[in-house]
Amino acid sequence: MKTFILMWNPAFSSYTWDRFKKDQAEICKDDWCEGVGNWSVWEHEKVEEGDRFFMVKVGEGKTGIVMAGYFYSDCYDGEDWSGKGRKTYYADLLIQVQIDTELADIITTEELLREIPNFDWSGGHSGRLLDDASAEKLELLWLRYINKVRFNKKENAVFIRDINDVSGVLERYLSRTYGNTCKQCGYNYQKVFGEDCKEYVPYYLFLSEDDKEPLSENELFSRLRCICDNCLSVVLDSEN
Ligand SMILES: [Zn+2]
Repeated sequence: MKTFILMWNPAFSSYTWDRFKKDQAEICKDDWCEGVGNWSVWEHEKVEEGDRFFMVKVGEGKTGIVMAGYFYSDCYDGEDWSGKGRKTYYADLLIQVQIDTELADIITTEELLREIPNFDWSGGHSGRLLDDASAEKLELLWLRYINKVRFNKKENAVFIRDINDVSGVLERYLSRTYGNTCKQCGYNYQKVFGEDCKEYVPYYLFLSEDDKEPLSENELFSRLRCICDNCLSVVLDSEN
């Protein structure tokens, strides 16, 4: 899974701030609302359906990450949104998280530049590929951010489709760092079938609607659990 950074400058984009506010109200009310729908992608030939995207608001005012999710198409060419007649490629967006910068904290441009300095977060083409190491760093920032922002209860401030979503990029980091042995029963595909086995025990994030405040760093990471399908069904049964 690759990660692409989309850029949005409401002052120049055909996607205006007013349209964003309208979409935000709709998507917060109804999960099925698709929001902006698609976005232009510079490095379009590298995009595959299922890849990760983050969208950074640039330009005037509060800037930083306003949207995250997955591409749910490959790129296709379309009319230039700017009307300049350039060849422009778009991909459809499945929005997982969308934040109103007026109503909620965001991961700011300054923070991005400080934490991941090898990428220009302040502008440039929309849809540039982020290298794998930086993408994993961004996922960890994002995890800690979601841990806080999910408690913002202001109307239409924060849309989160699934608080327990674990992206393939985060999973790659967790697998490499902590391995893929089931925490409950100790099962590990590679131990049974050898290192070449492509199957692995996945990671799940167990955040709860009952949580009252942001979790501590230790607690947050303890909620990320490597757990096999058998044990998962037992855990879920015991919770219901
Ligand atoms: Zn297990």
